[in-house]
Amino acid sequence: METCKDRRTSETVDNDQTVCPEKSRQDDMERQALDDRMSLIRHKIIVLSGKGGVGKSTVAANMAVSLALAGKKVGLLDVDIHGPSIPRMLKLQEPFPVEIRDEAIQPVEKAGIKVMSIGFLLKGRDEAVIWRGPLKMGLIKQFLKDVEWGSLDYLVIDSPPGTGDEPLSVCQLVKNPAGAVVVTTPQDVATADVRKSVNFCKQLGLPVLGVIENMSGFVCPKCGEVTDIFKSGGGERMAREMGVPFLGRIPIDPAVGEACDDGKPFVYHYNKTETAKAFERVIAPILALSDHDHEQSSEPKTHKEGDRNMKIAIPLADGKLCMHFGHCAQFALLAVDEKAKKITDKQLLTPPPHEPGVLPRWLHEQGATVIIAGGMGSRAQGLFAENGIKVVVGAPAEAPEKLVSQYLAGTLVSGANVCDH
Ligand code: ADP
Repeated sequence: METCKDRRTSETVDNDQTVCPEKSRQDDMERQALDDRMSLIRHKIIVLSGKGGVGKSTVAANMAVSLALAGKKVGLLDVDIHGPSIPRMLKLQEPFPVEIRDEAIQPVEKAGIKVMSIGFLLKGRDEAVIWRGPLKMGLIKQFLKDVEWGSLDYLVIDSPPGTGDEPLSVCQLVKNPAGAVVVTTPQDVATADVRKSVNFCKQLGLPVLGVIENMSGFVCPKCGEVTDIFKSGGGERMAREMGVPFLGRIPIDPAVGEACDDGKPFVYHYNKTETAKAFERVIAPILALSDHDHEQSSEPKTHKEGDRNMKIAIPLADGKLCMHFGHCAQFALLAVDEKAKKITDKQLLTPPPHEPGVLPRWLHEQGATVIIAGGMGSRAQGLFAENGIKVVVGAPAEAPEKLVSQYLAGTLVSGANVCDH
């Protein structure tokens, strides 16, 4: 049978990139199935962190159980492909209880919540490490789509850490999420990681519900007093500077880890300790979410550009948009007056030699806030997002002035991303 690979049709968009109609139809069907599944869930909360080991899964599990203890119908989905710790925290041991019914994976009931972890499907802890990016992304996508949650008040999603293509897939695939909770530690605040996570959400139009500073101070197991071991409070300052809510601090408490020994997260057992109160405080705004906080919208939100001067970068070849931004000879950088919807300046810049990660940083230094591109892989999109640059993909090979005018007028037609790998 003829396949997309064999064929070069009129849909060939350049020498080696083909938009395959069958694949595109299949993608549409999968997207619809995922949207249908997600539409039964009122609040989807994505838990993110700049790096691993900061307590992201601990927060996700305790948040899910707290919401359930408050009488909500809750699911906990662990898609942290390289470190799925939810099975360990809930003491779900091999052989994992994965049941497939009517072509859907059935979640497991534990501690009052419905649970599913990508760890149930991996043969060994290191299996995902050796996979190539598209395989991992495919599994994450399939997993989001195929779990039979039914109707829920909340779905807490434990995402892979960082701002690479795996968390990017999660954030892009979950339609109309309530937003992200970003978990950090006092030490992590000092690094750029957590800021990258917040910028990443902003660029994806994903509301940041708030930042949680975990492992902030130590609770004495004898007297219960909280002592700051590392300088704390940085998370709150950082959140204020970045204009996102600060949800609160959770101390280091040996009981948090120990509680998992019987497969039930900390908040299931304790309700009077300082740490339990800290969890209660950080979760209160999540519990108070109303449907109006994130009205159903069919399109992902675009970020607000209004508070900075917008500069739009466009990769060029022969004076027109170049489909592969990584190999273009020049960038046009157009400054615009957003209110008047006018181009106020245009510069032609020669990019530095192509190396992964260099162009997003360089364009950020040039003041770019938006890049209009033909095609771009998800990793590159994540790097631009980290650098505070909004990405518009699938634009045609036209002159930069035309593309920018259309973008400002809201008439830019962006087609398929010709480099979706
Ligand atoms: P991540 O998901 O960010 O990789 P985990 O949630 O798996 O991190 O937490 C890493 C380790 O730290 C686990 O052993 C967990 O029990 C422990 N931990 C997390 N938060 C706390 C806390 N507030 N107090 C004590 N231990 C904690």
